[in-house]
Amino acid sequence: MKVVVDRAKCTALGNCEAIAPDYFEVGEDGDLVVLRDDVPESELAEVKSAIAACPTAALHLVERPQ
Ligand code: SF4
Repeated sequence: MKVVVDRAKCTALGNCEAIAPDYFEVGEDGDLVVLRDDVPESELAEVKSAIAACPTAALHLVERPQ
């Protein structure tokens, strides 16, 4: 799976970074940086928790094209 961010919705509060810091980081310029977007099965639960914690529903998982 791949995690994608809808930049129009992200307010860069950093809830996702607090839960999954290997994937998300709010940069010094205040924009969210996606550090990794490829999510292995073993880390899906962590990333799903981060997605659920996003107050603006800006994060989504999508299937990676084969
Ligand atoms: S929790 Fe949502 S709104 Fe906050 S930085 Fe992450 S993606 Fe953006």
